[in-house]
Amino acid sequence: MEKGKVNHDGLFNIEQPLLKVPAEQLKKAARTTQRYIDYFMKEINADVTKLGKNAGGSVDASQAVKTLDEMVERLVKLKRKIAETKAEEFTSVERTKTRLNHLTDVMSVTSSESPAFNRWCQTRMERLLVDYMLRNGYSRTAQAIASELKIGDLVDIELFAESGQVEEALRNQNCAECLKWCADNRSSLEKIQSTLEFNLRFQEYIELVRAQKKEEAIKYCRKYLITWQAAHMSEIQQAMALLAFSPDTWCEPYKDLYSPHRWTSLIDQFRSSNHALHNLTSQPLLTMTLQAGLSALKTPACYNDDDRTINCPVCSADTFGRLAEDLPNAHHVNSCLVDRVTGGLMGEDNLPLVLPNGFVYSTKSLAEAALQNNGMVRCIKTGDQYHISTARKAFLL
Ligand SMILES: [Zn+2]
Repeated sequence: MEKGKVNHDGLFNIEQPLLKVPAEQLKKAARTTQRYIDYFMKEINADVTKLGKNAGGSVDASQAVKTLDEMVERLVKLKRKIAETKAEEFTSVERTKTRLNHLTDVMSVTSSESPAFNRWCQTRMERLLVDYMLRNGYSRTAQAIASELKIGDLVDIELFAESGQVEEALRNQNCAECLKWCADNRSSLEKIQSTLEFNLRFQEYIELVRAQKKEEAIKYCRKYLITWQAAHMSEIQQAMALLAFSPDTWCEPYKDLYSPHRWTSLIDQFRSSNHALHNLTSQPLLTMTLQAGLSALKTPACYNDDDRTINCPVCSADTFGRLAEDLPNAHHVNSCLVDRVTGGLMGEDNLPLVLPNGFVYSTKSLAEAALQNNGMVRCIKTGDQYHISTARKAFLL
């Protein structure tokens, strides 16, 4: 790739959620509007039929007026509901526009060294930070940054506020919020064949058994678990057998069913379903962006204390190094020599020098050390001291 040129395809590759999230929200709002219309129109049609019947027989004026009043009431309610969902749709459309403009801004930039590109990257960095904070539960800080920097339309504050509430409820061992979320997104969850709703129902059942409310548990099972028998027969059988085991049992799988870890798994499952529904990446975009950069720097010498170079971010084992752990090594066509003291590159204007013990340092690095120590230089690998005049130029083949 040409140096200094903006790689637009590469940039947009990881920006898909930016447009997909508001598009998904728009679709959801439109579906909700349609549901309201279907529901209210069914009721209003029933009213009309009722009126028609009355007209055919003995007309009861007061009854007819009552029915008409009810129809008006329903229509007013429908209008209010539609106004609410239309406002949501409007927000999603506006958000999409702002995001498209943000992406269009960078389309006209060709040089990666131009101020316009730097500005765009700064905004991207800001929204990646907000996204990272939202995903890690720092929602108030994230909101404050977003409003201070006026990037509210480029980040998904409401989405994470909503999912944060659901997660909080699950942490408090309450499934109600998450079940409501499942009901709101049922068709999308069915499409990805999610087992989240069943697992939530199963957990509620387990809690009833744990509380020794066996009769209630059986009723609950009949009402909510049996409907899933086609796909979850073996779990339902385990649920039934669970009635015979107490919470302090050592017998698997019943011990595991009583385990509090199941709540953590539910949170994880909810999180990944929420991400899948909104086309969000499972990792924060900040992590992914950093990993894209780190993958270009990782070499087989990384993580090796003896060989580490001071300027290599991958070699910082407790920060960037951790993000790069699972990444493959970068493919380098040309190798380069790096001075282990200064981290500077060796080349024609900074030739490599060999000390008598065979270790190589850059000219600049040795000259600087010699200046401070009466011409003597010390090898940091072996501790041996030499006069700089004993260093020989190294020639690369
Ligand atoms: Zn390294």
